[in-house]
Amino acid sequence: MPDSPTNRPLDRDSGKTLRAPHILAALLDEYDGGVIELDHSSPFELLIATVLSAQSTDVKINEITKTLFTKYPGPEDYLAVPEEELQDDIRSSGFFRQKTKSIRGLCQALLADFDGEVPLRMADLVTLPGVARKTANVVLAGSAPEALLEDPDAGIAVDTHVTRLSKRFGFTKHSDAVKIEKDLMRLFPREHYGSASLVIILHGRRVCDALRPACGGCVVEEWCPSSLIAGRRDKAKQAKSLGDPA
Ligand code: SF4
Repeated sequence: MPDSPTNRPLDRDSGKTLRAPHILAALLDEYDGGVIELDHSSPFELLIATVLSAQSTDVKINEITKTLFTKYPGPEDYLAVPEEELQDDIRSSGFFRQKTKSIRGLCQALLADFDGEVPLRMADLVTLPGVARKTANVVLAGSAPEALLEDPDAGIAVDTHVTRLSKRFGFTKHSDAVKIEKDLMRLFPREHYGSASLVIILHGRRVCDALRPACGGCVVEEWCPSSLIAGRRDKAKQAKSLGDPA
């Protein structure tokens, strides 16, 4: 007799609301609850590091910020040097001209609107130039998890890894980051909004590669509908080829 919805064992074909807690628990266990790999000692430093990390690697950004954070301890320091000097200091992060503008713009806004302090509320963070929900969620998750818990507007940081893995897990069919975030917020408990993003990012970097996912050594393989070793098709690629709506 075929399994009914109530007695069917949990597997990769189960509904996403049934699979999500198991996938999250396994990833939290595998990655020690999730760590942010950008070195920082304050919300301000994490904000700067996150802006710099676009199109770069955390290893590269940590190299840069080792000296950058000593030279520029506060927002006023980024505005006290000529633009070209800051460009030189962050050149190796890539897109250094745009990043210089972003950093100086957000430093100006911090000084003008928030007494030079990083506001720890989503509604305030996204008023800073160049800061969208992803960056704001990273800053809250990495440096103010208590504030994230209490902030009804805060959510889950969605980057390229979270986007890809959310599709592979069958957690979303969207490509738009805000829509993916909403789908994930329905699946994960609020107390794990920060850690869920961190562990999914780590899994995307270390195991579930964009081109060659290492399904054979994956701790969530039994619940993944995109497992290549189970003969499944990559749902991230399927979504793309079907012209997945944003
Ligand atoms: S089974 Fe493969 S596709 Fe699924 S999460 Fe693991 S590595 Fe990624």
